[in-house]
Amino acid sequence: PVLRVAIMGLGGYGTRVARAMEACKKAKLVGLISGTPAKIKDWRSKYQIPEKNCYNYENFDELKDNPDIDAVYVITPNALHHDQVIRAAKAGKHVICEKPMGLNAQEGEEMIRACNEANVKLLVGYRMHFEPNTLEVVHMREKGDFGKIHFFQGQCGFRIGDPNQWRLDKALAGGGSLVDIGIYAINGARYMVGEEPIWVAAQETKTDPVKFREGVDETILFQLGFPRGAVASCLSTYNMNHLDRFFLNGEKGFAEMQPSTGYGPIEGRTHKGKLTQPHVTHQTLQMEEMASIILQGKKSVIPVDGEEGLKDLKIIDAIYKSCKSGDKLNLNL
Ligand code: NAD
Repeated sequence: PVLRVAIMGLGGYGTRVARAMEACKKAKLVGLISGTPAKIKDWRSKYQIPEKNCYNYENFDELKDNPDIDAVYVITPNALHHDQVIRAAKAGKHVICEKPMGLNAQEGEEMIRACNEANVKLLVGYRMHFEPNTLEVVHMREKGDFGKIHFFQGQCGFRIGDPNQWRLDKALAGGGSLVDIGIYAINGARYMVGEEPIWVAAQETKTDPVKFREGVDETILFQLGFPRGAVASCLSTYNMNHLDRFFLNGEKGFAEMQPSTGYGPIEGRTHKGKLTQPHVTHQTLQMEEMASIILQGKKSVIPVDGEEGLKDLKIIDAIYKSCKSGDKLNLNL
């Protein structure tokens, strides 16, 4: 069986996903949802999409009458995910939603509930969860190669350009660097340490309040504490380049990865030597695996379901709260 996918949001990342899906055997692009007729026209001819599988943001609820589409992949600005996922679920379609799944834990919970009620699956576009070098490190940790884990460091960021883009508009982005790129350090801390954090503390710093307006964070430092004593120290920023690094330290060994979450190839080494898994386009692997998860109930090594997305949203809520109050906060994931 092939997962027949409609992409919602034909922007930069939607374009990348569509290109990567060309190499998929189990997933196929068959539908489009866009507010821009010119893009629909372009994509229709590029991917041989029938007109009856094309929708806009007003009429995509009509997907419920279309038996030729199994799933909607939501790849729009963050603040739109919540409503669009719920509408797609109500139309009876499985949903893949880009990160961050929503803007906060409450949105996440509502999205999960809507998908459960509609009896459709909800997955989050966590492409690193299928990346072979990442999985090799996770596997080594599970085998005990690093011994007891003591420390994780995640540094995620880039210098953001155009001040007028949606990523710097609180109403569309829902936040700043943390929800966009810092989420990789949050999520990475969890799958690298292999536990759920029990506390968080966070500090914010802003060097350019003109570019980074109220509610749009430029740089956040945060720390996470884990039940067996490990700590994580992370940096999320929109103001520094060359920042895509993971470091995991245990009593018997270490792993370091740089780049750790970029589009790849992911590179790194452990105390045992270089990571050598071959590079495969992340989004191709992701869509192959997600097709099996949705159609056959396959389980991924690192979860990619709504509950997984919700955990990151709960941590994001707590990080923003800690930045404001200065308090170290307990987490209950
Ligand atoms: P983008 O700006 O390139 O594309 C966004 C698309 O949404 C555009 O086509 C735009 O026309 C459309 N859109 C629909 N309604 C809109 C509205 N009201 N305002 C503005 N645009 C609207 O952005 P992108 O980089 O493709 O990011 C889209 C989503 O994908 C984000 O949630 C982002 O976090 C996620 N993303 C994930 C990864 C990853 O590696 N997993 C990488 C990049 C982006």
